[in-house]
Amino acid sequence: MDLGTVMLMLAVGSFLFGLLLSIFKFNNNRPEEIPYWIAAKILQAVGSLLLYYEADSVALLTILADILILAGCAYEIWAVRILMGHSVKPGSHISTAVAIILASLVSIFMEYPFRNGYIFLLQSILYFLPGLFLLGKSYGKFSLRLILGISYFSTGAVFLTSSVVCLFFPENALSLRKSAVFNIIPIASFCIFLISGFIMLMLAKEKSDMLVQEMQKNLKKSEIRFQNIVETAIEGILIFDENYNITFANKNMASMLGYTVEEMIGRTYVSFIPESHTDVYNYQVSLSKKGEDSVYECCLMKKDGEKNWFLISAKAIFDDYGNFEGSFSVLTNINERKKAEMQLEEKNRELAELSNKDSLTGIANRRCFDATLEQEYSNLKQSNGVLSIIMIDIDFFKEYNDYYGHVMGDECLRKIGGVLKYCIRCSADLAARYGGEEFACILPDTDINYAVKIAERIKQYIHELKIEHKKSSVSEYVTASFGVATVRYSPERTPAEIVAIADKLMYKAKISGRNRIEYAEV
Ligand code: GH3
Ligand code: MG
Ligand code: MG
Repeated sequence: MDLGTVMLMLAVGSFLFGLLLSIFKFNNNRPEEIPYWIAAKILQAVGSLLLYYEADSVALLTILADILILAGCAYEIWAVRILMGHSVKPGSHISTAVAIILASLVSIFMEYPFRNGYIFLLQSILYFLPGLFLLGKSYGKFSLRLILGISYFSTGAVFLTSSVVCLFFPENALSLRKSAVFNIIPIASFCIFLISGFIMLMLAKEKSDMLVQEMQKNLKKSEIRFQNIVETAIEGILIFDENYNITFANKNMASMLGYTVEEMIGRTYVSFIPESHTDVYNYQVSLSKKGEDSVYECCLMKKDGEKNWFLISAKAIFDDYGNFEGSFSVLTNINERKKAEMQLEEKNRELAELSNKDSLTGIANRRCFDATLEQEYSNLKQSNGVLSIIMIDIDFFKEYNDYYGHVMGDECLRKIGGVLKYCIRCSADLAARYGGEEFACILPDTDINYAVKIAERIKQYIHELKIEHKKSSVSEYVTASFGVATVRYSPERTPAEIVAIADKLMYKAKISGRNRIEYAEV
């Protein structure tokens, strides 16, 4: 085999090896030594190719080839170092490569055989170094490291011998050049290429196997840790798949809902949601699918059908490609708190209602009347509409009380309150007991004609109650006098002044003979 053929084989082999490593880099878990390795092989391949063309002459191309091969060797050292578990400072491999290039450039000024001796010396150093690293203290199978180390050492020894011959016995070098001993160098390079490539791949595989083992061990550890947390948590834990089927439930979750863990797995989340809460469920599912985490309160149905409240903290799970994979939820039973909250809310509602209600007649009280009037009057400011007020006062009620007694008096007030409740049914209107035997109505957006109509209807219904009143000098039954005022908003007029206007009209009705309606638009 001649020198050119060996160099061509080296070039093709290195290119193929570089290509193989590139594929390995993109398909595998990208071990960090791979980029160095690719650089080494490509440099060596190009260098060998140049030598193939310039095998026998010392031209500029040969020097370039030497530089490339030496730099390739240096990168191979870095790859070996990383493979042995050492780290490489960023940029240090580049400075080393530059140093090698500069050292090789010195050979331009040398003549054969000193130039060859010098290059061989550099090469022998670069082959001894990985050998040293391989046999030093590092991990990986020792037998593999030993074979690879010995290969590097023997190649280093061949280069060193050649170097010594060229540098110290130059007269023999010329004859040696043609001899088989000299040709041993490219053959040795080819052998080391094959052996080192094969063994380094085996070492890399061993390293990645060890990493996988380490990862599996860590995974197992964190799995056990996760299981312990999940099983000792006082909260319930549920994991759903992308269709919201339960794929995991901890014991606590199952027992909170009265199921066993086995019964829970595979069931849909929605099967635990009462119909009244499906809106909450749908909203939360849409949030999760958008990737938004949320904390919400929701009712879940227990096995016996009882509803329990839970505080649910949900986290969406996505795969590496961003596809929705399901959700992880932590559930805290807040049933007792929620029940107490709802009872409190109900009590507050009742209290608010009571504080606005007149206890005798069941219609709104003065407090509610004042607040409503304030609100309606301020609304008037924006709407620029009208508002009517009816003030009602029972005629000769003192006499009624004196004659029939307070119990009958109260009964009479209650009945008149009932009439107001019946006549004022529009949700915007309000009928209230203003105080004593006085009543008042607020009629927003009602003109004078319609307000008078309502007052007439009330007057008519009071009459139809036919409550006997022997002491009244206007009727044999209980009657009332009405003052109806319709107003527009004016910054000079307060709500109390509007009441005073209606009150005045009501007293006008009293003076004018009672059991009548007086009205005015102001
Ligand atoms: P007028 O026709 O001028 O209104 O005469 P009146 O007797 O109705 O007017 P007055 O203001 O003199 O009397 C109001 C009476 O209403 C006094 C009180 O006995 C009675 N009254 C006020 N509040 C209540 C109540 O809550 N229950 C009962 N039974 N009577 C009440
Ligand atoms: Mg009165
Ligand atoms: Mg009265």
